[in-house]
Amino acid sequence: MARRIRNRSFRRGVYQKSLIESVDSYGSEICSPESKSSSVASYLERKANAERFALKVLPATIDSGKPMAEIRDTVILGSGCAGLTAALYTARAGLKPLVLEGHEPGGQLSITTLVENFPGWPEGIQGPELIGNMKKQAGRFGAEYQHAHLEAVEVGAHPIRLRTSAGELHARTLIVASGASARWLGLPSEQALIGHGVSSCATCDGFFFRDKDIAVVGGGDSAMEEAIFLTRFASKVTLLHRRDAFRASKIMLERAVAHPKIELRTNTVVDEVLGVDEKEVKGLRLRDVKSGERDELKVSGMFLGIGHEPNTKMFARQIDLDEEGYVKTTNNVFTTHNGAIVPGVYACGDVQDRRYRQAITAAGSGCMAALEAEKYLEEHGH
Ligand code: NAP
Repeated sequence: MARRIRNRSFRRGVYQKSLIESVDSYGSEICSPESKSSSVASYLERKANAERFALKVLPATIDSGKPMAEIRDTVILGSGCAGLTAALYTARAGLKPLVLEGHEPGGQLSITTLVENFPGWPEGIQGPELIGNMKKQAGRFGAEYQHAHLEAVEVGAHPIRLRTSAGELHARTLIVASGASARWLGLPSEQALIGHGVSSCATCDGFFFRDKDIAVVGGGDSAMEEAIFLTRFASKVTLLHRRDAFRASKIMLERAVAHPKIELRTNTVVDEVLGVDEKEVKGLRLRDVKSGERDELKVSGMFLGIGHEPNTKMFARQIDLDEEGYVKTTNNVFTTHNGAIVPGVYACGDVQDRRYRQAITAAGSGCMAALEAEKYLEEHGH
C-alpha cells in the first residue's frame, strides 16, 4: 500500500510547530497546519465516532523543544500473535514498525504444541512454527525486532515516550500487544519450588518428568491441553480442579477424560506443595472443598494451567484497566484514560481480551490496531 510523504521536520527530532486548535462543545483536538485539510474529514469522523460511543478524545499535543530519541511511526509492544499481525499490517503500510519482543518472545503460542484451530492449517501447526512464520512474514515487509522490555512509558506525551531495557524510544503510535502471563496459585511453597518441580509450561518442562507421577491444576482448555501433552512423558497425570464444572471446551474435556493416564479430581484445591526443604516437589497437600477432607498426593511435579494475567503494570493510571488489569478498549482497539480516547495508543490481543483469547481473535485485533494506527498517522500528516 502506498504511503503518503511523511513530515520531515518531525523526523529531524527538533519539533516546533504552531498548532491550530479547533475547539467545540464536545471536546478539543489539536492538529498541525499541514494535516489540517486532511484531518477535517477525519476529525468529523472521529467526532462522530466519539459521539456514537459517548466518548471524549484527549487532545493530541505535540512536544516541542529539545532533540529527542529516535522517533518511530509505530512501536509494537509484544511479539505474540496480536503483535506480529499488527507488525505485518503496519510493515506493509510502510511504517517500519519496531516490535519489542519482551520477556516472553512469541507469546503463548511459542510455548504451546499443536494448534488445530488456526484457519489455513488443515492438519494443525505447531505453535512455535506458526509464530516463526508470522515473524518472518512481517520481517519481509520491513518490521524490525528488538529483544527489549519496557521499563517505563508516558502515553500522554506526543510523541509517546518509552524507556526500554535497550534505551529510550519515541513513537507516534503505540500498539500494546503485551499479552498475559501465566497465573500462579500464590502459595509460598509453590513459589519456592518454581523450577524444582513446579512449572507453568508443560511444553518447556514436560520432558523432565519421564515415568513420573505429576499433577496439573485447572479446569480450562490450558489445563486439559497440558494434561494431555504431559501423558507423553508422565506415568500418570492427576488433573485437579477446584469445582465440578469445567471451563474447558467439550472436545478437550472429553479427550482428557478418555485418556487412560489421566485421572480427574474435582472440588479439590492445593493447600501446600511438599518438598521445600528437599528443594524438589515430593507431593501435594490437597483439600476437598465440599467435604473439607485433606489428603496427600505423591507427585514429582505440579503444572499450573489456571489462566493468565495481563501484562499491563506499566500502563496503570495512564490507560483505563478493568478490575483484573485487562486494558479496557472501546470500538475494539482504542484505549482510553478516564473514559476519553488516548490518541495513537491501541491495544490488541490477550492484554485486552478476557473473553475469547484465541490465536485467531488476537490476530484479528492486531490487524484492527494496525489499521487504526495507520489511519491516525495519516490524519496527522505522516
Ligand atoms: P481459563 O479458561 O480462564 O481457565 C482457567 C481455569 O483455572 C479455570 O478452570 C479456573 O477455575 C482455574 N483457576 C483459576 N484460578 C485458579 C486458582 N487460583 N486456583 C485453582 N484454579 C484456578 O484459562 P485457560 O484454560 O488458560 O484458557 C484461556 C483461553 O484460551 C480460553 O478461551 C481457552 O479456550 C483458550 N485456550 C484454547 C486452547 C485450544 O483450543 N487448544 C488451549 C488453551 C487455551 P474456575 O473455572 O473455577 O474459575
